[in-house]
Amino acid sequence: MRTRFPPSPTGFLHVGALRTALYNYLLAKQAKGTFLLRIEDTDQERSVEGAVENILRSLDAAGIPPDEGVVLRDGRVTQEGQKGPYFQSERLPLYRRYADTLLEKGHAYRCFCTHERLDEMRKAQEARKQAPMYDRQCLRLSSDDVATKLKDGVHHVIRMNVPHERIIRFEDDIRGTLTFQGHAVDDQVLLKSDGFPTYHLAHVVDDHLMDIDLVLRGEEWLSSLPKHLLLFEFLEWKPPRYVHVSLLLNRDKTKLSKRQNSVAVEEYFAKGFLPEALLNFLALLGWNPGTTQEIFSLDDLIEQFSLERVQKSGAIFDLEKLTWLQGQWMRRIPLLAFAARIRKIVEDKFSKAKTDDRFEEKAELIQERITFFHETPAMLSFFYEEPRVTLELLANEKQKVTRELLPKIFETLETICKSISEKEWTNDILLARAREATEKEGLKLGQLLWPLRASLTGLPYSPGATEVAALLGKKETMERLRNAKTTIG
Ligand code: GLU
Repeated sequence: MRTRFPPSPTGFLHVGALRTALYNYLLAKQAKGTFLLRIEDTDQERSVEGAVENILRSLDAAGIPPDEGVVLRDGRVTQEGQKGPYFQSERLPLYRRYADTLLEKGHAYRCFCTHERLDEMRKAQEARKQAPMYDRQCLRLSSDDVATKLKDGVHHVIRMNVPHERIIRFEDDIRGTLTFQGHAVDDQVLLKSDGFPTYHLAHVVDDHLMDIDLVLRGEEWLSSLPKHLLLFEFLEWKPPRYVHVSLLLNRDKTKLSKRQNSVAVEEYFAKGFLPEALLNFLALLGWNPGTTQEIFSLDDLIEQFSLERVQKSGAIFDLEKLTWLQGQWMRRIPLLAFAARIRKIVEDKFSKAKTDDRFEEKAELIQERITFFHETPAMLSFFYEEPRVTLELLANEKQKVTRELLPKIFETLETICKSISEKEWTNDILLARAREATEKEGLKLGQLLWPLRASLTGLPYSPGATEVAALLGKKETMERLRNAKTTIG
């Protein structure tokens, strides 16, 4: 199974394109096949410097680099494989040769129409509310006319000669049987006057010569499919399987756009999204596993992905779901790796952390609730600097902690702390003593733990009170309680 991802180097890698690449990657990998990358740079005006490297870097960062074609090796763009070159701009003689074959067989013709004439034609068609289509003026030129124009060096393109009487049928894996009427298919330009092919000719030639078995691409290409199928037929080649996946949509069901979402893969990585989360999310955008499983590693996807479960309808890009998956993937990082990764970030902010020999335990406390690595310093700040505690924070309506009750609560907390030796100072014992005290004092657990947590962290959200106390140690915990007590006067 050979699949391909053929981006045009016009900028960054779009998240929708990453999903297309992912599906192609999965189909190749599950068949132990090859995932190929080709660069479609025949539109020289739209090509952007650095785009190829950028796209490859994004694929690498996502964890789905190509096996063949244009690849990154040691950070440099290079080509690998037996079916190259893999830049279309390096294959121009090939396209010319097949355009000539099509001309010889009468499946294509030269068109000398000027831009001005084509513009006028299009405007007239629009005025008549007709679909824009070449009117075939040059198909009717005699061979003498053509010879004269060629001799005079008149600029021309090569167009395909679509058989109008034909009905073109096709089985799409997702959409079922598709039928196209020949007379509704435009005589597509195959070779431009500058000698560059259009996408239509170039990708057909390449997909054939590169032995591609399955083409999975965006549905924007579906309407051109009859042209591509005809080209395969004209050249007497077997077409690959074609699958067209639906677009990604904004919440309001319009096409995913920069105005409503980030669309560049690199932006998601820059924001701190994990490649695992992004791939998991994109896989589920348009593919339904048919079970309640939501977390898929790349290996899970390779095993379970199937075209039968890819949906026709557009998939809404739900940032909340992506963020939820991000949290899930953060929890799955092995603790030591997680701690090592955040340690540097914390040390940059709090130099005290450099000598912290209980850092892993602190990391463990936040791993359950973190979404992005950059949140770490804020989540662990209270371990390395004095918290700022206010009366507003200490009292809490939901926990039934009133200002009047605070003196009694602080007294109870102090008694609990005093009753535990340095050696016994653990989360379990702290929690057990707090429970005992609630019975004795007629308090609820939350009435004790909320002010304790607030005194130790100064934060409305943080890991649990006794877990934090255990890590701060007896002395520091009691000191912070005393400091907090002064705020209630
Ligand atoms: N160069 C085309 C694009 O970027 C490729 C489409 C395809 O054949 O997959 O849209």
